[in-house]
Amino acid sequence: MTKEMLLCKYGEIVLKGANRKYFEDMLCRHLRKRASSYGKFDIYRAQSTIYIEPEDMTADIDGMFEAAKKVFGIVAVGRVAVCEKNMDSISATVREYIPAFLAGHKTFKVEAKRSDKSFSLDSMQIAREIGGVILSVCPHLKVDVHDPDITVKVEIREFGAYVGAGQAKGAGGMPVGSNGRALLLLSGGIDSPVAGYMIAKRGVTVEAVHFESFPYTSIRAREKVLDLAKAVSAYSGDMNVHVISLTEIQEELVKHCEEDYFTLLLRRYMMKIAERLATKYNCSALITGESIGQVASQTMAALTVTDSAVSIPVFRPCIGMDKEEIVTVSRNIDTYDISVQPFEDCCTVFTPKHPKTRPELQKVLDQENKLDFESLIEKALETETVHHIKAEY
Ligand code: ATP
Ligand code: MG
Repeated sequence: MTKEMLLCKYGEIVLKGANRKYFEDMLCRHLRKRASSYGKFDIYRAQSTIYIEPEDMTADIDGMFEAAKKVFGIVAVGRVAVCEKNMDSISATVREYIPAFLAGHKTFKVEAKRSDKSFSLDSMQIAREIGGVILSVCPHLKVDVHDPDITVKVEIREFGAYVGAGQAKGAGGMPVGSNGRALLLLSGGIDSPVAGYMIAKRGVTVEAVHFESFPYTSIRAREKVLDLAKAVSAYSGDMNVHVISLTEIQEELVKHCEEDYFTLLLRRYMMKIAERLATKYNCSALITGESIGQVASQTMAALTVTDSAVSIPVFRPCIGMDKEEIVTVSRNIDTYDISVQPFEDCCTVFTPKHPKTRPELQKVLDQENKLDFESLIEKALETETVHHIKAEY
């Protein structure tokens, strides 16, 4: 019986020198957490590879394969069969395990790697011999070493030999938790979930804040945002979403300030409140989904006004991306279909007809000073409710 397992390769953290073990342990912890939903697996590492080995027949290796692909820090996940380190055993396993992967393909190549240098054949010899084995069981196939439809891999490693043809790309990036914590301003739109995903990918733990404006925005709009947080959490891990009401602030803005400035003033309030929450929850930066020029409040001048409301860094990973590129990521991470559900956002109520695209900071501040900024922020902070999103892997 062929015994299947997964081999995970990691990227950048190989370069981490003295800290490498810290990153590797963190990756193993993330994998173990996800594995708990799929049965019993033994997860260990050796030679820059993490091994995920089912402990019994009930372990769901298909599910674990998909889950491992979403762990930041892993660049490739290979689905392999393990066998003894001799050519008879390797050939027998190739005959039994590999043909199913080759169905529908015309050309292949074999890539062999020998990290156990005591093995009697070198990589070229292994590749040639296994190529012959494959041709004998799948005579319709041809070898193409330059541009094959499929690559069969043979690895001779510390604990055994591994053969596979099911290598998938991993999520890349750095393990979540290895690079601090930041607070995502999460709307119901397409961009901000993508922004959260992109920063989490760099190893940052993401906490979120959502602003609502009940009764101008609905409970359904909030639920949509929590659904988005859930989708992002499949990559970023468990996430707290802090919900803050901006109703009073918006009503005060409408009463006392010039309409053309509503959006900008609101954005500054959001940033200020987010900065307070960031301090409270140990986050050292904010994350938004803004992209230069996408809407009036995202011109360079408008972003300058928004930025000057806070003194902590604001990460805007979508800043240079076209909408289409952001949409592509959102489809890949399964947030797109949620984002396009038509529910109102607090930014879309009371929107000015002629928003300022080239605002001057002083004029914005003159408007802002018509209100008691500090007490409105304090009151908004009192409306906070916290929703703990348990990651669904
Ligand atoms: P998105 O698709 O992310 O909603 P958008 O193009 O609609 O982006 P804006 O509405 O101008 O852009 O918002 C810009 C950014 O401000 C968002 O990406 C998000 O980070 C933040 N933001 C907007 N509305 C909210 C909200 N209701 N709660 C939390 N953050 C928000
Ligand atoms: Mg929005």
